[in-house]
Amino acid sequence: MNTLVDLEPVTPAPKDRVVGPPPEPDVLLEVRGLKTHFHVMDGTVPAVDGVDFQLKRGETLGLVGESGCGKSVTSLSIMRLIDIPPGEIVAGEIWFDGREILSMPMSEMRRIRGADMSMIFQEPMTSLNPVFPVGNQIAEAVKAHRNVSSKAATARAVEMLAAVGIASPTKMAKRYPHELSGGMRQRVMIAMALSCDPMLVIADEPTTALDVTIQAQILELIKSMQERTGAALLLITHDLAVVAETVQHMAVMYAGRIVESGTVDDVLLRPQHPYTLGLLNSIPALHKRGRQLDVIKGVVPNPFHMPPGCKFQPRCPYAWDRCKNEEPQLVAIAGREGLSRCFLQDPGAGARRVEFDRAAVGTVSGEAV
Ligand code: SF4
Repeated sequence: MNTLVDLEPVTPAPKDRVVGPPPEPDVLLEVRGLKTHFHVMDGTVPAVDGVDFQLKRGETLGLVGESGCGKSVTSLSIMRLIDIPPGEIVAGEIWFDGREILSMPMSEMRRIRGADMSMIFQEPMTSLNPVFPVGNQIAEAVKAHRNVSSKAATARAVEMLAAVGIASPTKMAKRYPHELSGGMRQRVMIAMALSCDPMLVIADEPTTALDVTIQAQILELIKSMQERTGAALLLITHDLAVVAETVQHMAVMYAGRIVESGTVDDVLLRPQHPYTLGLLNSIPALHKRGRQLDVIKGVVPNPFHMPPGCKFQPRCPYAWDRCKNEEPQLVAIAGREGLSRCFLQDPGAGARRVEFDRAAVGTVSGEAV
């Protein structure tokens, strides 16, 4: 069957890894210095190049960024579903429920994946097996991780289909994926992901393949199921509106790194990084009626030729000489919870900082547009 349970894990456990101390017990997932590279004919692509974040038990985190910024590779690295070759996790630690999972044997990782951590993929049609009824596929996932009879697994499948709002669940469990609408297929994926009561659910662009009218229903379902089960949620999306509605914390990625993180309110209402501000400026809004839409100038950097210094400097309207010569680190944002990878956080940024703050306030209030 072509489900997460049956995906053959291909990321071997690196040998003789030296890892740091475990995180605090209330931290369910901690990613430290994760670097996942792909070795291809033209060279090495540093798809994820030093990612750090934490997700506490029962909390929700959105990982946001443009296509190719490394957010999906980050989630696949956490699940250890990176193909080797061409991929390689070259550095970092991933702590899940007090254990460092990059050091685990694959047999142990296979036990955790689908049971303690599960994933909702973007396109349910390619994740569900077309030749098995959906109820069977959920029941198989349950049987793979729980010591239950076929009858109990089938009953759990029907129970989960009902929980995700599918009417006549007993009847629908016998349907094949092609007999269901896109929204119903995604509900089935959510039912499957939650069928073993995971501690962590990773949802990778769960609404991108759906009609706009169905997107809101699926987001609401993910949110309510997360609240009901108490699972932590890592939501991967390019859509700022989706994170605003669904999660408590967010991290913005650019060129394989996190450039800003914090609570959703802080990041969206008081952005501290020029890239976050650029993303917010690019959103159409009523107060911009009649004006040309703002865009972030330039293109994402070629991964084979990353710019020196700050990776955003060729596109950043606030860049100065230092940005071309030195790479900024993630630093604490003064006066609030959150981090920013930008020299504007330095007290010496002076007039540039004032200019940035004025633009950021204007964006949020609509005064500057
Ligand atoms: Fe812009 Fe410099 Fe900040 Fe990079 S470090 S985002 S180039 S101001």
